Amino acid sequence: MLRWVNSSISRKIGGLSIILLSFLIIMIIYSMIGLQQIRSEMIELAEVDTPLTEVVSEIELLQLRQHILIELFRQTNHKPSNNNINPTDIHQQLESYNQHLSEQMYKASAIIESGIEKGRIRFKQEQHQLLLTSMNKLHQVRLAFEKSFMASIQAMLTGESINWEHLEQQDQQLDDELGKLLNHLNALTVSTAIYTEKHESNFMIMTSILGVCAFIIGLYLTQYTIQYFRQRITQTRDTIHLFRNAIEHREVVDFEVDNNIADERDELSQFEHELKLLLKQFSHEIISRDEIEKQLIELATLDKLTGAYNRHKWDEQLKMQLNLASRGAKLSLLLIDADHFKKVNDQYGHEVGDAVLIKLVELLKNRLRETDTIFRIGGEEFAVLIKQTEHEQSLEIAKLLQTKIDTYRDASLPHFTVSIGITSYQAGDTTTDFFNRADNALYLAKANGRNRVEVV
Ligand code: GH3
Ligand code: MG
Ligand code: MG
Repeated sequence: MLRWVNSSISRKIGGLSIILLSFLIIMIIYSMIGLQQIRSEMIELAEVDTPLTEVVSEIELLQLRQHILIELFRQTNHKPSNNNINPTDIHQQLESYNQHLSEQMYKASAIIESGIEKGRIRFKQEQHQLLLTSMNKLHQVRLAFEKSFMASIQAMLTGESINWEHLEQQDQQLDDELGKLLNHLNALTVSTAIYTEKHESNFMIMTSILGVCAFIIGLYLTQYTIQYFRQRITQTRDTIHLFRNAIEHREVVDFEVDNNIADERDELSQFEHELKLLLKQFSHEIISRDEIEKQLIELATLDKLTGAYNRHKWDEQLKMQLNLASRGAKLSLLLIDADHFKKVNDQYGHEVGDAVLIKLVELLKNRLRETDTIFRIGGEEFAVLIKQTEHEQSLEIAKLLQTKIDTYRDASLPHFTVSIGITSYQAGDTTTDFFNRADNALYLAKANGRNRVEVV
């Protein structure tokens, strides 16, 4: 059962269809057998029971004729002069009666014998056999009656006395035998009709039960299939939803993907598994792409030589930080310019000049906080934005930077110094106001002899 639950959808649907089809085939076979049975019963009714019923009516009429014949004979015997009927007529009527009775008996036995022979008689076959025996007996009784009747007619013609007692006995016996035969025939036809009716109703009940069962199984299978697909689609939708949420929040999707059992599952599970793998891989790709993008943006905003932020970043940050300062944040700007740098280049070469610039930024970074950003805004000119710091403190930082650079010694580099101009945000400052003040301070520092800090 568990294997079936995990099997492929085509196998699952195939299995369910085979169950339903087998059930339908059983129903069809049962219906065919039942209909065949009813058909043979109908044939029996048509070929055996209906003709036998006709024979029953004929024999009943003949029984009546037998009584009339005996009565006529009695009357002719008592008052021969008043009667138009003579013994010869009675004799003829007796012969006609005999002939008719024989014909009906022959007809009945022919119907039964041909029915048995053709296999039409399916029910109460032994009763049909009994009927044949009863007819044989009737034949003998009829012969005895005929003989006794003929003897009585002969006696009447010759004037001898008629043995009425014997004749009446024969008549009664024939009557009884006829009665028995009629009862037999009636019982047979009635029992077959009842049997057929019962059989038909049984067939109807069984067909209805099978039909209801097939309907319930079909309904259950349909319900199961719909439920199954709905559940799997909901699961897949949840997976996609989870993925979408994770991507929106830029998180790595952490699906539980079990690689080992994937092959044993059905197509939908495999599809779900593949989808999870794909989404997981996709989410990793997106996250790493985000990181690469971030790195590229970082690189695009950094100065290649020194690693300080570039001019582009400077313009953006200056506006942004000034905006924040206008809302109450503290902000100071340091403009730092290498002193007589042209001479350094001229004296030691451009490469050494580059190394000095690299070292200069390194020294600045070491003395500043993470939040204080350094920008290279010109060849040997740098800007530092100091946030959330009082003006006096910023001034101290500037002086510390200038001193540290001045006192720095490296055998591979010439001694170098910087001039620093510093200003702090004043209410209503535009970027130009703010920058120009720092630039004026720097100019002052240069004018006042370099390697110093000036405030404006
Ligand atoms: P001051 O003290 O007045 O600032 O004098 P200075 O020589 O530093 O100023 P000036 O503006 O006359 O010269 C700046 C020099 O900086 C000129 C240029 O060759 C040099 N410079 C600019 N960018 C670079 C660079 O990336 N690498 C090197 N090695 N030198 C540079
Ligand atoms: Mg300079
Ligand atoms: Mg300069």
